[in-house]
Amino acid sequence: MPYRVTLIPGDGTGPELIAATRRVLEATGVAFDWDVQEAGADVMDRYGTPLPDPVLDSIRTNKVALKGPITTPIGTGFRSVNVAIRKALDLYANLRPARTIPGVPVCHQHVDLAVVRENTEGLYIGIEHDVIPNEAAESIRIITRRASERIVRFAFEYARANGRRLVTAVHKANILKATDGLFLKVAREVAGQYPDIEFNDRIVDNLCMQLVQRPYEYDVLVLPNLLGDIVSDLASGLVGGLGVAPGANYGAGLAVFEPVHGSAPKYTGMNKVNPTATILSGALMLRYLGEIEAAQRVQNAVAAVIAEGKHVTYDLKPNRDDPGAVGTQDMADAIIAAL
Ligand code: NAD
Repeated sequence: MPYRVTLIPGDGTGPELIAATRRVLEATGVAFDWDVQEAGADVMDRYGTPLPDPVLDSIRTNKVALKGPITTPIGTGFRSVNVAIRKALDLYANLRPARTIPGVPVCHQHVDLAVVRENTEGLYIGIEHDVIPNEAAESIRIITRRASERIVRFAFEYARANGRRLVTAVHKANILKATDGLFLKVAREVAGQYPDIEFNDRIVDNLCMQLVQRPYEYDVLVLPNLLGDIVSDLASGLVGGLGVAPGANYGAGLAVFEPVHGSAPKYTGMNKVNPTATILSGALMLRYLGEIEAAQRVQNAVAAVIAEGKHVTYDLKPNRDDPGAVGTQDMADAIIAAL
């Protein structure tokens, strides 16, 4: 039986990246029955909303989705479709692994981090308003015991299942005593239930400095929503940039796989950006489906193409203007050949 999977191409560079990823996943021999669903800026005119109901219905039915990035207007306009999907389906855990792939130009070799970001609350509840228009505005940040407990538990379960040694809770509890204070208190309580995994905590600003200087000291990081968003991009930068950073959003019996990066709109339609992040998100999906061997083959093929360094996009060349860089689909072709 083929796997029925919701496929959301997204907008900007999303459709090109999803097309490349779909070809790679199909080349593994695993059979898919894609349920293609449109969302994002490009469907606003037709549906009057960037997130038509059938998209969420499809994910609820199929229980697994592969998603391209979707643009969110800055400052004004519609709210983030990406955040709306995570909230509507209660996809509370955002996992963003950041591991060095040999051949990618980086400052530190052998970085291997897993960023676990709370996905449903914090500042992303999006309750904000003008207090005095153009003069003062207010945003509300919610942290609950329930959401903190389940995200920290997810981090420890992930650590246990993947042979990890350390979980670090990252916060700003020195300043945000009520909200991050609660997150840290709950993290310490949950940590007590996992004596086999080491636990510590760090204030976020200090952690950022330490990650840049000594990333090897860290393993699994668990963070409230906004801090997780920022630190996961920092972690992506450590291993070569957003072009190689995959992601997954997990809920109870549901999962949506998508790269960390956004729609990179300035490169739309140029066959330029790196498909690795989306392809590795596809590999995370194969693991979730139990197709471990196919997932490993995809990861190995990506690693082989990057190690060879010939058929890679501009961002993986030491000199970004290297005329030898190939396009999105060409890199996918090389990965398929390596499979
Ligand atoms: P972005 O991640 O789209 O791009 C930032 C820069 O990172 C790009 O200019 C490019 O230099 C690099 N980059 C990103 N993806 C790459 C790839 N695959 N290969 C090579 N380089 C890559 O971030 P942004 O410009 O801040 O956001 C653009 C839009 O995407 C915004 O509307 C934002 O809201 C949205 N966004 C969506 C998601 C999502 O869909 N989950 C996530 C983040 C941002």
